[in-house]
Amino acid sequence: MTSITLNNGVEIPQIGFGIFQVPDLAQCEAVVLTALEVGYRHIDTAAAYMNEVAVGRAIKKSGIPREDLFVTTKLWVQDFGYEKAKAGIQRSLAELDLDYINLVLLHQPVGDYIGAWHALEEAYKDGRIRAIGISNFYAERLADFCETVDILPAVNQIEAHPFFQRDRELAIAKEYGVATEAWGPFAEGKFNIFSHPVLTEIGQQYGKTAAQVALRWNLDRGVIVLPKSVNKDRIEANIDVEDFHLSEADFAKIAELDMGHSEIVNHYDPAYIKMLHKVTFHD
Ligand code: NAP
Repeated sequence: MTSITLNNGVEIPQIGFGIFQVPDLAQCEAVVLTALEVGYRHIDTAAAYMNEVAVGRAIKKSGIPREDLFVTTKLWVQDFGYEKAKAGIQRSLAELDLDYINLVLLHQPVGDYIGAWHALEEAYKDGRIRAIGISNFYAERLADFCETVDILPAVNQIEAHPFFQRDRELAIAKEYGVATEAWGPFAEGKFNIFSHPVLTEIGQQYGKTAAQVALRWNLDRGVIVLPKSVNKDRIEANIDVEDFHLSEADFAKIAELDMGHSEIVNHYDPAYIKMLHKVTFHD
């Protein structure tokens, strides 16, 4: 599988398996194992998904050497601030039952994320984390963050799909050498994405589905994608995207789908920010 080299030299497979909204631990373990069996080597979880323990179990069961796997988790807002983040990192290592984590992200740009970053920097320096990054940072937050911290984030994980393309975030990330990861690469199924006429028609040229075109579009612009599925056929189809590329004409058609805003989350809404602060998942 194609990899990208992060700004600290670490290699990351460009397709990762997302595992949000799979809280049932037995199901999560089974689908992560399926993903590993069909060829994924990069798993994207988060402390707040409450399934790190199942990801760890699937990794052990797979028998795949640790050095061949790339595991990402995220620290939640509840664990922000230096001391809480230090404990949060240990908690994730224990839940995943791993000696090190490949990538740890600050899940949201709210609360004391600078204090939390200092804890990530420390764990990065002593090898418990191999790369550190952020998530959901809009262009201005991303620029401010990069101007503030000592160690630049390796990654900014943001919502990015044909209906919310994020050109501003990609441009700022490029300026600072930060790789962009796309969460919700299928817009969580919104906008009729799986049978959208524009994506379907483009796919027909290559014998691919609309879903595969949506993934290829992000991959061709250098973005890391994290498709999620609990269905084996889809898990396989979502990785079967390495044998074609989109043309400039395809890109021009997809550019017209951009709405320029999210219909999944709204980081500009005070009520949403308050909600992020209120969500807790451990004592
Ligand atoms: P997504 O990957 O855009 O969409 C998942 C939905 O698409 C599911 O309903 C899935 O259904 C369906 N699906 C997947 N492949 C399909 C295919 N080939 N054909 C038809 N339907 C298909 O949404 P997401 O899970 O929100 O995002 C992906 C990952 O990004 C997450 O799992 C998580 O790791 C990460 N994420 C991060 C954040 C953040 O704040 N950093 C936020 C959201 C997500 P089935 O499962 O039934 O197949």
